[in-house]
Order: sequence, then C-alpha cells, then structure tokens
Amino acid sequence: MRVLIMGDMEGVSGIVHWDQVSHGSPMYQEGRRLYTAELNAAVRGARAGGATEVVVVDSHGAGAAGNMGGPAFNSLIPEEMDENCEFVTHHGWANYLDMLQEGCDACFFVGIHAMGLTPRGVLSHTVASGRWLVMRINGQPVGEIGIVAALCGHYGVPMALVTGDDQACREAVELLGEGVGTVAVKKGLGRYSARHISPKRARRMIEEGARTALENLAGAPTFKPGAPVTVSFELVSADVMDGYRRREGIKLEEPNKVHSTGETFLEAWERLAPF
Ligand SMILES: [Zn+2]
Repeated sequence: MRVLIMGDMEGVSGIVHWDQVSHGSPMYQEGRRLYTAELNAAVRGARAGGATEVVVVDSHGAGAAGNMGGPAFNSLIPEEMDENCEFVTHHGWANYLDMLQEGCDACFFVGIHAMGLTPRGVLSHTVASGRWLVMRINGQPVGEIGIVAALCGHYGVPMALVTGDDQACREAVELLGEGVGTVAVKKGLGRYSARHISPKRARRMIEEGARTALENLAGAPTFKPGAPVTVSFELVSADVMDGYRRREGIKLEEPNKVHSTGETFLEAWERLAPF
C-alpha cells in the first residue's frame, strides 16, 4: 500500500504565529522540530496501518513560496525524518504528482490550516495570503484541503486523514464528509492563539489516526467536483488582478475575481496556480 503524506506547518500543535513558520525568524527552528515530529507520527501510523511505501511532501512555503531559488518548501529536518519514509522538499506547491500518477492508495494532509478568512482558523489562508482571499471550486469555497483533495481525486486517490486545528478538521468534514479521518491537535481561539493538545500527545493521536484511517480506507472520500470544473479566486488587490490579464483561458470579473473552466480540475487549476 502506497501512502502520500502532504505536510504543512500552520496546523501543527504548538504553532500559532508566523514567526514559528517563516524562514529567517529565530522561532522557525522550533517550528521545524514540531512539524517534523508530527509528520513522523503520521509515517509511523501509516506503516502500522499497512503502508509499504510512504512519501512525505513538504508543502509549507515558509514565507518564501514565490521564490524557488530561496528556502521555500524545505522546512523538514532531514536528520530527524523517520527511516520508514522518503520525503520531497523544495518542490513547487502541490506540484509533486508522481505518487498520484503512478497509483497511490491514500493521501494524508498533516498540519494543515483552515481556508482564508476562517475567523478562528489559526494562521488561516489559502495558498498565497498576499494574493488570494477566497478560492472556489464550482462556487464552493475551498482552502488548501479542497485543492489537495481535488488533485488526489483527479487521480482517483482518496483523502484518508486531515490533521490540524479544529477549524481545518471541520472544513475537511464539511467538504469531504464524515468518511475522512481527522485529528484536531489544537482548538483555534483566534487567528494567532489556540488551546493546544501537548505535542507529545498530539503525535500519539496522529499516529493512531493514521493507522485507523488506513484500516477504514474503504470509507474514505475521493473528491471529484464533477465536469466541467470552474476554479475561481477572489484576489486581494488590483496588482494581483493585473497579473491575470491577457492570460489564455482565464475569465476576469472586475474588479477582483478570476475564473478558469476546464474539463477537469487539473486543467482549470493549472491555469491559475501560482507555482
Ligand atoms: Zn504552510
């Protein structure tokens, strides 16, 4: 059984502030340790649940996502990674599709945050907070959970587990249904505050959640938005809007919305994706 684990930092227990997740900040090193340990917990759980191949993908931009010459998507601590996985770093956001294309049995999204503008979502945003306010798939607001679920769904891969704060978990269940396993490692109290489960216990919960998610894989949802698919963004500024002008296949709705329609999610998404 092959399992793909997408990792993000903002939904990890103990993390509430950009300083803990942004390259160059002194607190970033603490964030990396907390992040790596939660990913390892998911790897252990996946192995216990029967996975024979586990690939972890660092999907956290670390405040430098627009610059692939810089430190983006490279927050895992290699020396501390569990031996029973391989891991992908410094690859564009949600661009690592090899596992999905080759055939993969399940996807986990560990440490994810809620979509942009979620009131109690700790560090909530959608991919690029300096560019996008709200994203929609066929009119339904989605965040990064929805994007990853739709990419997986394109290849017929189910979303088996989502971990993060309570708002990310609620978002996952609302979008994907009760069949998705969730582990809430903190309760969002505001954008920059949370009531945390201690990281050590949170890791045990993730390990257990990962194992059970694979045991219950038959009930895990495969997200397919239908065809055709329209992906829309509400943009934060006229500057960002300007960047989408004169681009083929993109419909503009003044003053700050763009829409892309394709036969598949992948086709619609790839026209708009920033990385
Ligand atoms: Zn992130």
